Parts: sequence; C-alpha cells; structure tokens
Amino acid sequence: MGSIQALRGTRDILPEEVRYWQWVEAIARQILSRAAYQEIRPPIFEQTDLFERGIGEATDVVGKEMYTFLDKGERSVTLRPEGTAGVVRAFIEHALHAQGGVQRLWYIGPMFRYERPGAGRQRQFHQIGVEVIGSADPRADAEVIAIATDILQALGLKNLRLDINSVGNSDDRPRYRGALVDYLTPYKDELDPDSQERLTRNPLRILDSKDKRTQEIVAQAPSILDYLGEGSKRHFEQVQQLLSDLGISYQLNPCLVRGLDYYTHTAFEIISDDLGSQATVCGGGRYDGLVEELGGSSTSAVGWAIGLERLIILLQQNQESPRQRLDFYVVSRGDAAEAQALKLSQQLRQAGFSVQLDLSGSAFKKQFARADRSAAVACLILGDEEAQTQTVKLKWMASKEQSAIAIADLLEKTDELRSQIESFKSPCG
Ligand code: ATP
Ligand code: MG
Repeated sequence: MGSIQALRGTRDILPEEVRYWQWVEAIARQILSRAAYQEIRPPIFEQTDLFERGIGEATDVVGKEMYTFLDKGERSVTLRPEGTAGVVRAFIEHALHAQGGVQRLWYIGPMFRYERPGAGRQRQFHQIGVEVIGSADPRADAEVIAIATDILQALGLKNLRLDINSVGNSDDRPRYRGALVDYLTPYKDELDPDSQERLTRNPLRILDSKDKRTQEIVAQAPSILDYLGEGSKRHFEQVQQLLSDLGISYQLNPCLVRGLDYYTHTAFEIISDDLGSQATVCGGGRYDGLVEELGGSSTSAVGWAIGLERLIILLQQNQESPRQRLDFYVVSRGDAAEAQALKLSQQLRQAGFSVQLDLSGSAFKKQFARADRSAAVACLILGDEEAQTQTVKLKWMASKEQSAIAIADLLEKTDELRSQIESFKSPCG
C-alpha cells in the first residue's frame, strides 16, 4: 500500500521551523499585551452564512475559495477563511460592547481557502490578526498600523513598505463606483475575464487586478481619493498626519481597495520586496459597517491580519533558526548509572533546568558526540564509578572544563549552577 501524504496546499511545520513560529508568537504576544490587546479564540468552523455576510458573496474568498460542507445534521458549515467575521460574531453574541470602551482583540490560528497553492499561498495557512472594535478615531487606525510595523521590526524584517488608501464611506463609494464603471465600460473587452465579470458584481476589485493590460487601463482610471466627501477626506488626512508623527513612512496607493460596502476609510497593506509575487505580508483596514451587517448595533472597527507563512519565509531568508535552549545533556552507561541519570534529570528539571537525557545506551563516545550536537551548556556524565560514589562529572561544553561533584552538592547549589549556566550562554541563546 502507498503511504499517505499531507493534502495539497497543507504542510507539516517540522520542529526546526516551529522555532521560528514560536519566536514570532512570543514577539507578537509581547507587543500586543503591551498595547493592552486581549487574545480571543473563536471556533475554526462557523455557519456558512456568517462568511457570506461578513466577507461578501461577491468576493473571491466566498465565491470560489471556501471549504463549505454539510455536517451530519445537514447544516452548512465553513472552515473559517479569515478571522474578522468570527471575532465580530463573538463580539455581538457576548455583548462585549457592554463592557464599555473600546475592545482591543487579537487572534492567531489556521485559516482555510481553496486556492492554487504556491510559495506563500496554501489552502491551510495561518494568520495573526487584531481587531479594534468601538472606535472611529483615526488614532485607532494609526495604532493598529503602528503595532503591525512594531512586530515586523522587532523580528528584524527589512525591505518592507506600507501602502495606504481610503475607500471612503458608503456615501462616497457609490459615486466613485459609478465613475469607475463609466470609465472602464468602453474597455470592457480588453479587461481580463475576472475583471469583466467584476464590472457588474464588484467593480472596485478591478483596481487590484494582477493582469498587465488591465493594470494599464486602470492606471488612467479616476482616483477614489477625488471622490471622498469632507468627513472621509478629513479622516484620511488625520491618519496620514498621525503616521508621520509616529515616524512611520507610507505611500499612497489609490488602487488598494476593499470591495465591499462595510469596508470604510483606511485600507492598507505591508508589502515585502523579498517575497516575489505573494508579496503582501499584512492586510487590513477599517470596517465601520460590518458589526451592523452581522446584526449588531452600528459600531466602528479597524484591524489587520498578518500571513504567518509569508512572514516565516522572510525570517528564514534573513535569520538563523532560533536555537532551542538546553542547560544539560545527560549521558550514562551501566544499569545503576542509567537509573541514577533518569532520577537526576528529573530532579534538575524540577529545579527549573532544561535537561535532555540520552536514552540510547550506546557507547560513551557516541553519547558525547550527541551532547556536542545538542547545543547544551553542560554535559553530565554518569558511569559505574559515579553510580558507586553518588557523584557525577560536570563538563562545560564551551571550555571543556570538567570536574566531579557529589550529586547531593549539585542539587544543593542550584543557584550557583544557574548563574554559571547563564555566564556560558551566548546572548542570543
Ligand atoms: P492575496 O492577494 O495574497 O490573495 P488576500 O487579499 O486574499 O491576499 P487577506 O484576506 O487580506 O489576503 O489576508 C491577509 C494576509 O493573509 C495576506 O496578506 C497574506 O499574507 C495572508 N494570506 C492570504 N491568503 C493566503 C494563503 N492562501 N496562503 C498563505 N497566506 C495567505
Ligand atoms: Mg486571496
């Protein structure tokens, strides 16, 4: 029988790579908690209806990419293709607005879209995202953007740029949509097939078509920025001013859009020069109409999502794998010594050290070679002699210095041991 492999568009994240993921998560958690964001964990599947309303039936995500199926109770359920709809549903369902003030939420986890897989594009992928619900203040837009740039910067990423745009509000957009359709209609036959279809369904989305000829046509199209009403214009100017005050550089990109009516005002993307065609690492914007669309009361909100696979690709290009920290590698040989080694390992772990016990039972030489490869700070060695005398040999891997010590003494002097270990650890260890 043939062996079973992971499904197309899914992949295993193996331990070596998981270290990058854990590092990203640790940095993100730290930055988000400093800014008083709280983690929320909505379910991974929801009623299909939630995404149809929350993302919009005219979008590719809902129209083509959803993992939708009937469960055994004949309900239509969908594996979440993004995080915002579920968070907003939870916000409404649990009346989180009743807690007063602004809700600052974040999430992390897998998302599912039936897409053509490639580098940085999968069917199961992961996002970390934030949602600030309950503020129309342009400072909220600037805050979420600043947090995204902080996270990316803390990870040492370079060659990133921030594109921003405004898609106005539901008064501005019909006027703009009319002007755009008037401009594009004479070119209809020259547009790519997707864009032709979008001309009636979701014309704003034509602006971010990847087709070359469509892009040439779009380059001369009217700009949404000329169709913003006074309020929208003011909001967008304030966001730009705030970003400048924060020292965050950006460029205006009038082709950056969210196609649906509940997306309002600010839209933004953070794009990498080092990722080839799947270059957008973070996408976000304001969605003042979504809470109401999903049955809540009219509530302003803004958020973003970072695609973690793309982020990890960038980190792997730029940084060495963060090493797993290990204090002791324990080698032993002989029945009494092996039992003693297990017990000592356990005692050291309980005292707060990280300890890897060699279970191979092979010759000392082989065990030492593994100790060398393990990146442990020190090696503990137990043979027949040590078992008899209740001692252990302690070898510092960096200096190769070695000494014998009574096990009882070792376990007594844990503070001293800890500071010795710290002094041997490299600053990035
Ligand atoms: P794209 O234009 O690349 O398809 P999108 O507009 O569909 O992106 P969003 O829905 O805004 O993406 O999601 C935010 C981020 O999530 C993207 O910028 C990207 O980093 C990541 N992302 C989206 N779809 C995928 C996917 N299929 N595989 C991996 N990452 C993805
Ligand atoms: Mg997409």
